[in-house]
Amino acid sequence: MYGAGDVRVTDAPDPTIQLATDAVVRVTRACVCGSDLHPYHSMPASVDGTPMGHEFIGVVEQVGGEVTTLSPGDFVIAPFAVSCGTCEFCRAGLHTSCVRGGFWSDARIGTAGGQAEAVRVPLADGTLVKVPGVGDSTDEALLASLLTLSDVYGTGWHAAVKGGVREGSTVTVVGDGAVGLLAVLSATQLGAERVVLMGRHQERTDLGRELGATDVVAERGDEGIAAVRDLTDGGSEIVLEAVGHMPAYEQAVGIVRPGGVISRVGVPQYDDAPVGFGSLFGPNITLTGGPAPVRAYIEELLPAVLDGTVDPGRVFDLTVGLEEAPKAYAAMDERAALKVMIRP
Ligand SMILES: [Zn+2]
Ligand SMILES: [Zn+2]
Repeated sequence: MYGAGDVRVTDAPDPTIQLATDAVVRVTRACVCGSDLHPYHSMPASVDGTPMGHEFIGVVEQVGGEVTTLSPGDFVIAPFAVSCGTCEFCRAGLHTSCVRGGFWSDARIGTAGGQAEAVRVPLADGTLVKVPGVGDSTDEALLASLLTLSDVYGTGWHAAVKGGVREGSTVTVVGDGAVGLLAVLSATQLGAERVVLMGRHQERTDLGRELGATDVVAERGDEGIAAVRDLTDGGSEIVLEAVGHMPAYEQAVGIVRPGGVISRVGVPQYDDAPVGFGSLFGPNITLTGGPAPVRAYIEELLPAVLDGTVDPGRVFDLTVGLEEAPKAYAAMDERAALKVMIRP
């Protein structure tokens, strides 16, 4: 990405093993994330550009001399954060705070982006999750679902976990993007009895209903708040915010029930937000959430994906080749596509 609205496909040198703990992965599927749209709107023009993409699956091509759990030919899921798997934060399941890790396209750890033919993966043993038996599978539905474990499914799951969703919960999800829809699925899997989805794109909210939403509220602002408070008899005990813009936060504050929890996984595009007496303090609201340590959840979520119990890959509604990556951004930005897969 060279600036707002400016995505180009360029040739880069093939990635190589730089440290003994690295792997090189040939990407079989990547995708564009809703969070990629934030720089797509606001990135200042740059001569060098930034490599893009933090969600990918692929096949290990080479490993460094100290990599012990992976071999060339292994099918792997790459979480959106690089992590060592052994520091105190990784051991606590908070891989996004790994003391040795970082993210994709991160100069500190020398990573590039996943929207590419191949990627150098640092700390490969800690970062990558091997999935035996997938190999060079051509089962598109399975590959799509495995790709969601890179980010959007794990992020929706994190929202629900941090929100404390349990058997019988009433949950409201703000946002009908891929993360919001998979937060609906996650809340349902965790036993929520009532799941209200706030979104105004009918194809998306229809999919949300199939994934477990019991009610849909298309209104926004005061009208949306009134509708949810009415449906939930005075406010939702758990609100999962999957957008990141201020109106979504305000929506969450407006619909949460006294004593309730707001769990945010949309990357906030603001630093200042109401937390005072009239918003969070007065009604004893807990505000939680953050970047999902998806690495912590993949093993737990994988079996139901592999046996077809859940089908989170349904959030993908368009596939393009790597050369057409600029179209993928435009389609998501125009809301012509919910989530776009990139096939190198
Ligand atoms: Zn993402
Ligand atoms: Zn770590």
